[in-house]
Amino acid sequence: MAKDDCVDDLLPDKDAAKEFYAKYEPKEILGRGVSSTVRRCIEKETGREYAAKIIDLSSDAENLSMHESTIQEIHILRIVAGHPFIIELHDVFESNTFIFLVFELCRNGELFDHLTNVVTLSEKKTRYIMKQVFEAIEHVHDKGIVHRDIKPENILLDENLNVKLTDFGFARVLKDNEKLFELCGTPGYLAPEVLKCNMFEDYTVGYGQEVDVWACGVVMYTLLVGCPPFWHRKQMVMLRNIMEGKYSLSTPEWEDITDAPKDLIRKLLVVDPSKRLTITEALAHPFFQIMQWDTNLSELKKSFNHVPTSLSERVTNREM
Ligand code: ADP
Ligand code: MG
Repeated sequence: MAKDDCVDDLLPDKDAAKEFYAKYEPKEILGRGVSSTVRRCIEKETGREYAAKIIDLSSDAENLSMHESTIQEIHILRIVAGHPFIIELHDVFESNTFIFLVFELCRNGELFDHLTNVVTLSEKKTRYIMKQVFEAIEHVHDKGIVHRDIKPENILLDENLNVKLTDFGFARVLKDNEKLFELCGTPGYLAPEVLKCNMFEDYTVGYGQEVDVWACGVVMYTLLVGCPPFWHRKQMVMLRNIMEGKYSLSTPEWEDITDAPKDLIRKLLVVDPSKRLTITEALAHPFFQIMQWDTNLSELKKSFNHVPTSLSERVTNREM
């Protein structure tokens, strides 16, 4: 991900966002998403640092829907607020052309960036990270929300290397037993039922919160061995492998890994969503019951294996 400034990254017109500029001083780019640029910024009054997600409504032909989806994202961020492993929204500014979401700053960036630094995570570190991810998602699910874009780019790490789940841009509040049908998420992390909904006319049952559990299985697999379970250079083959639940836990990388994490992954990457563990059941799995008195957080800073970047591209209905 290019994080240097370039012509396209000119800051929004001052008039468009007077209020934001009155309170904050924008600094360098921290990250970029499909529809946003995220910059470090300093709150002038306090000198505190934050991360401002700047959403450009003018660049999108369908900016009405972008506006609506950002309002939805803010609504959901407020519902899930107050959890230690979920990003905190500090401030919001709206103009006709831009929306600014000011978040707490995660100094250690994306879990994805750690992953691209070339080594795998030990079982102990995987347990430390995944327990926090599961606890964050359990909170989200308890509120009747599905995230729909769980992946290492949306799992941020703060200065203490604690997880902050972010990017609720695809999240939805589900009414009682409501099912969704839309194709959205990121290809390598899509659950089989999301694909089936969109590929087979006779698959009419839709999907729900179970999709986040599947994505956790993909993330956990990737943390342990440094490569994702379903990746294939031909995307169609990858999607077919996902729908068939075709992945391996017996390749050489898995040789030195104990049974507990393998067993958990097997129970997360289950094609039938009704047979997949729920988040709460996953947290009760023996893998998370092993005590860890001596976790050395600084070890987490060691780099991980490479993950193909093609997996990081998100899709929406429009793009796939
Ligand atoms: P999008 O919905 O466009 O994907 P995200 O909310 O995921 O936007 O933000 C894009 C990227 O910006 C993240 O993947 C991360 O690299 C960076 N980022 C977002 N929020 C923060 C934050 N609070 N602290 C540090 N970096 C952040
Ligand atoms: Mg994102």
